[in-house]
Amino acid sequence: MGKTIGVVSRFPEHLSHFDLAYYEVKDVAGVWHPPIVGTVPMVSVFGDNRAASDHPEWVQVDANGQRAVRSSRYFDWDAICPSHPEVRRLAVDWVQKAAQQSRSRRLRLDDASFAREGYCRCELCLEKAGGQDQLEAYRQRVISAFVEEVRNDIPHVDMTLFPDPLPGHLERRFGNNLDQLSDLVDRFIVPIYDLHYATTYWLEILAQGFRERLTRPFFVELYALGVAEEALGRAAEVALHYADGVLFAYGNKLDALLRLRERLERVS
Ligand SMILES: [Zn+2]
Repeated sequence: MGKTIGVVSRFPEHLSHFDLAYYEVKDVAGVWHPPIVGTVPMVSVFGDNRAASDHPEWVQVDANGQRAVRSSRYFDWDAICPSHPEVRRLAVDWVQKAAQQSRSRRLRLDDASFAREGYCRCELCLEKAGGQDQLEAYRQRVISAFVEEVRNDIPHVDMTLFPDPLPGHLERRFGNNLDQLSDLVDRFIVPIYDLHYATTYWLEILAQGFRERLTRPFFVELYALGVAEEALGRAAEVALHYADGVLFAYGNKLDALLRLRERLERVS
């Protein structure tokens, strides 16, 4: 059987051309885009700039009190803490609404993770973990329990992972315990983004690392907006050597995307 070639798109008119099309229903800015029937909704659950501004007390913090927000040096968006019952409830509401309105039996979770190593150490996390030395295990339990809750309502859950396949990193840095999650998730999606893909050796290393670590199917997601078609095609061929599918994200030229799919279907 051939491998999957799909898209992540903000262009509704592109979506029907692909058997697998992800549509960002709730993004990290906190903006809600009405779901589109026939597509797989993507929901950023614990990344939300709007919720973080409205509720500064929900923002994740580290041991030095540094907040996981855009204005600090590490972060591209604001991360809110799933230890807050309100955050958890909001995330479940978004997910349910996205699945219902798109009438999809599949949903993709984005940012179902903690912000990075050392996050979060808010009072609530420390209290619920039962001490600093329990924080890592606690974080993993929180994320796995959340995914399990989503999975109770939606039969097929896809999940985005940070592109770090080094042993123990997803667990320690992001609270994503692959052993626990593999029982809950249909497929993992690993965005490996570049603006040019002028070289691909690093992409190959990452894709191979995930192939070795994951027991579930996984797709590599490539950034397509403004990337030269030939370079993107080569990058996709490298990724497909290891992954079960490739997704082209945010490309705005439908004819190029269709040509790329044709090219990859010939080689996969
Ligand atoms: Zn917290």
